[in-house]
Amino acid sequence: MTAQLRAFPVLVLIALAWIAIPSGASANHVGPYGNGVPYKWQNLQSLGGSISYSLCPLGEPYAQDWRWGIENWDSYLSTRMDFNEFTCGQSVRTYVTWESADECGLTVFGKPATACWTATDATWQPQGGYFLLDEAEIPFDVSYKAQSLSNRTQLSAHEWGHNLSLDHHPYDNSCSLPGVMAYVNAQPPCFYVPAGSEIQTVECVVYDLLP
Ligand SMILES: [Zn+2]
Repeated sequence: MTAQLRAFPVLVLIALAWIAIPSGASANHVGPYGNGVPYKWQNLQSLGGSISYSLCPLGEPYAQDWRWGIENWDSYLSTRMDFNEFTCGQSVRTYVTWESADECGLTVFGKPATACWTATDATWQPQGGYFLLDEAEIPFDVSYKAQSLSNRTQLSAHEWGHNLSLDHHPYDNSCSLPGVMAYVNAQPPCFYVPAGSEIQTVECVVYDLLP
């Protein structure tokens, strides 16, 4: 009896989640801020810091969509944070590229994850209670190419949000809360630039930059 009582809400949640999922885009990732522990860049821990990124391979036609997702964050964060693009092939902090070996895998519903965020070099800081990021990667699955422009921009902004230590809006689809950190992406997305609440979380909660 107790097992049945426990199982019921889980089944309902799975059913609701299944209904809410449109075909195609979703994104997964590991351990950003939220229920997990935060990952922080050293250079963003004071006002005016920057991190470098590259879009590869050189001449990649979808690089413009990746760039928009990242630079939308940059413009909203004004002079408080800068994300600077370097030419593909240079040593940078965040590598944005295509999957090389299905790094993103499948979502829990068995569909290819369209993109993901991975810390490729991070060191646990026991006193601060966070991982100090030295290098990260954002791979995209080929299914990204079939998305609309607004979806492609949102997906890039979403993964960059993970790069800034944001987790998903819990139990959310991309229309019920403003912003780019929904777990499920609608077709087309309701939002493809970061919301004020997301900017504020990065500035004031993750990085403690503003009073
Ligand atoms: Zn995500």
